[in-house]
Amino acid sequence: MKIVAATGNKGKIREFQEILGKMDYEVISMKDVGINVEIEETGTTFAENAMLKARVVASMCDYPVIADDSGLCVDALDGAPGIYSARFAGEDADDAERNRHLLELMEGKENRKAHYVAAIAYIGMDGMEYVTEGRTEGEIQLAEEGMGGFGYDPLFFSTEIGKCFGLATPDEKNEVSHRGRALRKLYEILVNEE
Ligand code: IMP
Repeated sequence: MKIVAATGNKGKIREFQEILGKMDYEVISMKDVGINVEIEETGTTFAENAMLKARVVASMCDYPVIADDSGLCVDALDGAPGIYSARFAGEDADDAERNRHLLELMEGKENRKAHYVAAIAYIGMDGMEYVTEGRTEGEIQLAEEGMGGFGYDPLFFSTEIGKCFGLATPDEKNEVSHRGRALRKLYEILVNEE
């Protein structure tokens, strides 16, 4: 079944496809169906923001829609950047600048515990709405490692697989990742609905 991803983030789309492809979904991006919108994330939780994005895109196409709102929560930074993970180092910053900013804020911090959270919102062709969440545990490394994943992954040491997400294979990351867990929860719901 085709499903439209309400995101322009190539890392998220790739992981949606890696995970949902194994469940017989074909993930297409909103751009593939001619949707090019900037959706303002005005919610105060991952779940609210995910549903907000899913609703906008679902109102513009005739496919089931999936949206992800996710982020990195760092204990020593009181949970920041959290829902502001994409805008952490300014609106126009790239992954490298965000990672540099994170390392600067973490200078001298002994507690380097962190986790990722992902909320996945789904809107079916019948208009039914679902949201699931996943979380994965780790620590912020002292320096970047590897080229795998995207975003903060070169700085995220997964205490669940014992290696940096930047060095993990896609399968190793998806097995324990916040996004993998949230997507598999959603899949369980959809399968039991049928
Ligand atoms: P948003 O969900 O589009 O608001 O942005 C989420 C941001 O959180 C991304 O741009 C990344 O910076 C970060 N993020 C979320 N999930 C991951 C992940 O799996 N790896 C690395 N960074 C992530």
